[in-house]
Amino acid sequence: MHEFKYKNNQFYCESVRVQKLAERFGTPLYVYSYHTLISHFLKLGQAFKKINPLICYSVKANSNLALLRALVKKGAGLDIVSGGELFRALKAGCSPKKIVYASVGKTEKEIEYAIRKGILFFNVESLPELESINGIARRLHKTANVAIRINPDVEPKTHKYITTGKLTNKFGIDLRSARQILLMRGAFTNIRIAGLHIHIGSQITESSPYVEAIRKVVAFIGNLKKERLFLEYLNIGGGLGIIYDKETPQTAKRFARKVLPLLEKTKLKIIMEPGRFIAGNSGILATKVLYVKNTSKKKFVIVDAAMNDLIRPALYGAYHNILTLEAENKVKDKVDIVGPICESGDFFAKDRLLPRVKEGDYIAVMGAGAYGFSMSSNYNSRRRVAEVMVVKDKVFVIRKRESCEDLIRNELVPSFLSGR
Ligand SMILES: *Cc1c(COP(=O)(O)O)cnc(C)c1O
Repeated sequence: MHEFKYKNNQFYCESVRVQKLAERFGTPLYVYSYHTLISHFLKLGQAFKKINPLICYSVKANSNLALLRALVKKGAGLDIVSGGELFRALKAGCSPKKIVYASVGKTEKEIEYAIRKGILFFNVESLPELESINGIARRLHKTANVAIRINPDVEPKTHKYITTGKLTNKFGIDLRSARQILLMRGAFTNIRIAGLHIHIGSQITESSPYVEAIRKVVAFIGNLKKERLFLEYLNIGGGLGIIYDKETPQTAKRFARKVLPLLEKTKLKIIMEPGRFIAGNSGILATKVLYVKNTSKKKFVIVDAAMNDLIRPALYGAYHNILTLEAENKVKDKVDIVGPICESGDFFAKDRLLPRVKEGDYIAVMGAGAYGFSMSSNYNSRRRVAEVMVVKDKVFVIRKRESCEDLIRNELVPSFLSGR
């Protein structure tokens, strides 16, 4: 469910007409619904209330400070993947004790930063990384908390680029190696192994891959107990899928029904890291039609947004529903909706039936709240777009549109090139 809908043929975000926003702030424009964002977060908490999990929103899905702050204020922890995200998380007022940090390539600087700030734990993805964290913690005279990221080797049935829990992926540690590491834990003088972590992929619409992965780690934890090795946390990662097209993803409730019994039995503190589930349907990308171009083969609707603003179609062949901001036109055309960038991958939809549009009309790319702005770039020297958050009838700019000066801010021309 989300709060983007038509009222009297006009498209609204909460109580605000999106066309008004497009006219006032210009396009392309990311528009977020505060209440959609928060309600998804609360839904998950509600479904798992019985075990009171720590829900660490995955910052990379959408890392805007205002969104982070909104979630943190409702009690969310944060899941980070870099030092930059740690900086954001702290700026958003998140307690370090609610921050978990995964990444296969944490640098020494990033590790030191996180240890100094006292995060809840690192999700460790390899033995050399564990050794590195141990060494840095020793130098700082600290003990670092870690969870071992297990690669449970399950098939999450999603796009191969967002599959992360198979042994051919770079993520996590296989069960046998994890066991060896845990049994030699005494060798890591400045590390406390607090738990296990899994994150098997993204846009997962069924519960069975989760059930399979959780069963594997629960059995693994059971065997550890025989070695008198006890853990405190189980982090089941993120990956819950949302509706982009005709998917029928599990709801928070249905997901809980399947995995809650397994989790309850572990008696461990449970952590979750949803990103897309919380942010995905809480944002849209509003864009203006620049031209309608007819060729002998196709009809192209050329809009002012491009793949640098939302790369998911180009990167994953992802489907996004596309709506016109005025609903009345019943005539539909089969069109390609494309941006101005010099790449044929620069498209939002191909051979899509869209109500007939003309120059100056606006359209909305739906489901753009996660992995939208956060994956955007300045390619083609396009300024990154503005973001606004709607709260009922109020609108807040949460990121200003970049200026041309912003584009070159950090660039330097060597002195030998200056002058005539
Ligand atoms: C990206 C990521 C997530 C969030 O994934 P979603 O599919 O957005 O829920 C959670 N945990 C880790 C470790 C991640 O890398």
